[in-house]
Amino acid sequence: MSQVVDEVLSANAEYAENFGNKSELPMPPARQFAILTCMDARLDPAKYAGLAEGDAHVIRNAGGRASDDAIRSLVISYKLLGTREWFVIHHTDCGMETFDDETMGELLAGSLRPATVDENGWHDSNAGGGTSDGKYIKWLTFSDNAKSVVEDVERIRNDSMVPADIPIYGYIYDCGTGRLVEVTEASAAGRVR
Ligand SMILES: [Zn+2]
Repeated sequence: MSQVVDEVLSANAEYAENFGNKSELPMPPARQFAILTCMDARLDPAKYAGLAEGDAHVIRNAGGRASDDAIRSLVISYKLLGTREWFVIHHTDCGMETFDDETMGELLAGSLRPATVDENGWHDSNAGGGTSDGKYIKWLTFSDNAKSVVEDVERIRNDSMVPADIPIYGYIYDCGTGRLVEVTEASAAGRVR
């Protein structure tokens, strides 16, 4: 067994040992809100937003972007599971600011192996066996963090499946301090209509 699998199962055994009455939790989030945020390993929404099991929906992807699939989850969250307020939370030092669609397309064309990064940007091992498929994907990268939050809140706000009475708040999590800093232009764009 891999060391990681071993560690995960060992941690899980301890967790299940202290599971308490969590088996009685209902499916709808008790605090009726959802967070769309980045998959970055430094972010722990349960900690930075004070969540316990059963409290809220957390939807994560690279960048915390309002992709079609993120919107799919948010619509289910509201329509079927009772959330009534949504947060879009990006963060400082996001990896999605370090490349663009063209770069990712070229890296994948070089090989499928991991790329490396230095002060001149990303480099592929060019080990061969790459694919041009990456050139046809929108990777949802960004160069202006605050603007990306505004764009995502606007995209969600303007989606035909999203009701006008659900507030959407925009924030950037500061990886240097752990603080959530509001992007006021985003929250304004996400206000109830
Ligand atoms: Zn990120």
